[in-house]
Parts: sequence; structure tokens; C-alpha cells
Amino acid sequence: MRAFPCAVCGLLLTFESHTCVRCGSAQGFRWPDRRLLAPVQSRCANVELARCNWLPARDGQLCFSCALTRTRPADSDVAALAAFARAEGAKRWLLVELGELELPLPAGLTFDLLSSEHAPVMTGHADGLITLDLAEADDARRVAAREEMGEPYRTLLGHMRHEVGHAYFPLLSSLALDRVRALFGDEREDYQAALDRHYETGPPEDWASSYVSAYATTHPSEDWAETFAHVLHIRDSLQTAAEHGVRVGDTNPRLTVTADLRTLLGDWLALSYALNAINRSMGQEDLYPFTLPDPVVDKLALIDELIRQTAR
Ligand SMILES: [Zn+2]
Ligand SMILES: [Zn+2]
Ligand SMILES: [Zn+2]
Repeated sequence: MRAFPCAVCGLLLTFESHTCVRCGSAQGFRWPDRRLLAPVQSRCANVELARCNWLPARDGQLCFSCALTRTRPADSDVAALAAFARAEGAKRWLLVELGELELPLPAGLTFDLLSSEHAPVMTGHADGLITLDLAEADDARRVAAREEMGEPYRTLLGHMRHEVGHAYFPLLSSLALDRVRALFGDEREDYQAALDRHYETGPPEDWASSYVSAYATTHPSEDWAETFAHVLHIRDSLQTAAEHGVRVGDTNPRLTVTADLRTLLGDWLALSYALNAINRSMGQEDLYPFTLPDPVVDKLALIDELIRQTAR
């Protein structure tokens, strides 16, 4: 993610800033040219509810991002609304990131952000509609699910990246369907049967030698979504490092969207190795608890290639 300077005083802020901490100017993020403007007067209708700082077409309307949400918790559901605000934040991050990659948004992209506290909600994707269980926004619950399911990067943003990966499948895979099926398997394989098998027997013991996560072993389309999320994960982290001038040894993380992922992975491995070491110094777990064996690199590189081919 890029850092954004305050248009009034130049202090580095984030795209999520509402107010400059130095000069106090009101900040607003403008989609689609992705600029942080100040001082601004107009506000999104969800400025409080979703802590949204995006600029609407007209003051008091919903901004582009908020308008993509079709269903949200009821006004009376205070707990779910707090989670909703966090999910909207992850969604805005995702949108900016897709914009930075110059990817057109998937056709029919819509969000249902609901809590499973009162009725069952299945996080998932169907024809551009992304459904997210807001109970995942609760840290304790998400961490418990993360441990239980062996998914070390189960985060709200990780979910968003995964689900939008499904939404991009038709567009991206159509560019090289044979190669996609050769690496990921045939996505027409019975999904429910595959899911049942996964929850019955678990992932194959040697999954880490050819999959980016245990969940990716479930079905070819889940492997695709997990790998897609991982490409975004790597590219975004590299962009953030470059933006803040982080260098590790001889490597210099690059922002460029045009460099292919294989080239960037050298930087990424050096950077993630250093970040893990720093985390350990703080008594924390590894920030990046992954290894990238060749079959995983091949899959990452193919998705990345298709993203760059599709980029405007
Ligand atoms: Zn300022
Ligand atoms: Zn908004
Ligand atoms: Zn999925």
C-alpha cells in the first residue's frame, strides 16, 4: 500500500486518514484515481457507520465502496455494526489494491456483510457476490478458527482477497484455461464432494510441497483463490516496503506492477525472512510462516501473469 501525503502540509498519512494529525485538515479519499484530498467538505453517508473517508459523488451519499455493499447488519445490532466497520475497512483496502494493480473490478461485484450470531452465514462467493461472516471480525473467534483450520493468514483482508480471487476466476482463467487446469486441476470437479472429503480426512500430509495452504488442497477453485490471495498479499507487502524505503541487504523491493512475480520473489524472500526475524525478537510468531516450493511458485507466477495481462 502506498503512503499518502497530506495535500495541505505534506505529512505522510494513510489512505484511511480522516484528519491530518499535524495540520488538522479534513482528508477524503477519491476513487477511482486513488488520491487523498484535503481539505474536503463532503462526506460519505457511512462516515460514522463504516468509518469511511471516501468521497461520494455528492455530500451525504454513499461512496463507491460503500455502495457495493448490498446487505449490512440492522441498525439495532451494535456488535455486528462494529464488525461491519472493520470489514468495510478491509474492503476499501482490497479495492485500492486492485486499483493499484490496474485490474478492472469483477463483473457484478457486490458484498453481503452479515453476522452469523443470529442466523447462519457462509463466507463465500457466487457470481460476483461476496458474503462475509462478520463474526470473523471478532479477533478471538477468528484466531480460534485460524488455529483449528490451520490457516495462519486468516484475516479479514485475507478473506476479501480470497473471495475476490473466486470472482476473478472466469475472467483470468479464460486467458489460459489449459495452463490453469494443468497447474490447479479441473475446477469442474464436484465441489461438495471435495469439501466433504476435506473436512473428513483433512489435507494430504505432504500438502506443503505443492500448495500455498492446507485449505488450497480442498478443490482446484480453492487452490486458485488461496493462490490469488497470496499474490495480492506479496505484491501489497512489497509495495508497502518500497513505499517506506525498507531495504534488506542488496534487495530493493519494487513497486512496479510490470515486473513479473518470479523477479520480485527474491526481494520478497529476503524481506519476509527479515520480518520473521524481527517478529521473533519481539517474542511473536513469524509474520510470514510460509515456504514457497517450486509448484507453488509456478501457480503464483501464472496468476500474477494473468493479472498483469488483464491490467488496463
Ligand atoms: Zn496536514
Ligand atoms: Zn463510504
Ligand atoms: Zn473459497
